[in-house]
Amino acid sequence: EITRDDFLGALTEVKPAFGASEEELERCIQNHIIPYSPAVNKILKDGRLYIDQVRKSETSPLVSVLLHGDPGSGKTALAATLAIESEFPFCKLISPDGMVGYSESTKINELHKVFSDSYKSPISVIMIDDIERLIEWVPIGPRFSNAVLQTLIVLLGKQPPKGHRLLVLATSSQKSVLSELGLLDAFDADIKTPMIEQVESVDFVLKYFNLFEDVLRTETISKLNKAIEQSNSSQMAAIEDGLYDNKYMKRSGLKIGIKKLLLLMETSRQDSDSQQRFISLISEFI
Ligand code: ATP
Ligand code: MG
Repeated sequence: EITRDDFLGALTEVKPAFGASEEELERCIQNHIIPYSPAVNKILKDGRLYIDQVRKSETSPLVSVLLHGDPGSGKTALAATLAIESEFPFCKLISPDGMVGYSESTKINELHKVFSDSYKSPISVIMIDDIERLIEWVPIGPRFSNAVLQTLIVLLGKQPPKGHRLLVLATSSQKSVLSELGLLDAFDADIKTPMIEQVESVDFVLKYFNLFEDVLRTETISKLNKAIEQSNSSQMAAIEDGLYDNKYMKRSGLKIGIKKLLLLMETSRQDSDSQQRFISLISEFI
């Protein structure tokens, strides 16, 4: 027989995990999510759809989603934002940073514990950050922990007990590795976080933080466009001179992650000539 005290006990058992981890999750989002491109809004929209699916669907008590993209593309912040937004009463972050120095078996126990704790709440979200680092994958060898990998595959495939629901949000910058390891198949869905390739997106972020006043910002953006054009024309010249084989050349363009962009904006802010500094720093990403 389940008494009222048991019920209250179960509630308090669940609560501390929430409080502790929400702070951790908030730390993943150092800056607000800036809607610098339609792609960002699409990611949030898709993510919310999976949250709703777990919340409402009778047939899918377990949904797992992988956010993947190049380093610095914003995976961690987006996953943490979605996890917090869900407002699910149990919410936990599994991060390789929090497991540095753990033995393989301690790691595995911890994974089992987080999942079994989550089953106690009617509805839960678990975020697994940097999944390839969690399994200790290294490109040299290549090596990884097969035991941790197998644990994750089992946990990602395990339905929560009847009446309980679980959303797993994981991040990775090595989608093809996860695919080779058979881990990609363990996810129900994946979402790609893109790099910034549009100058308009840079303009949006600059405006958002007011790094430059409007006239200076417009000038900065046109300087950036010129730098991209210049890089393209010198590439074309090199092709015409026969220095490169045309087949292998791609037009140059901008490619930078939001994480780096924010960092170099901060560096530029410290400089007395912020604009000059900004142009020279961002030019390395053309
Ligand atoms: P890493 O590959 O190093 O793990 P990451 O892809 O997980 O990097 P984050 O650590 O999430 O990237 O860094 C993104 C940073 O940019 C965070 O500080 C986040 O708050 C901020 N940010 C601002 N706007 C966005 C956005 N639209 N999407 C993602 N992050 C954003
Ligand atoms: Mg990350």
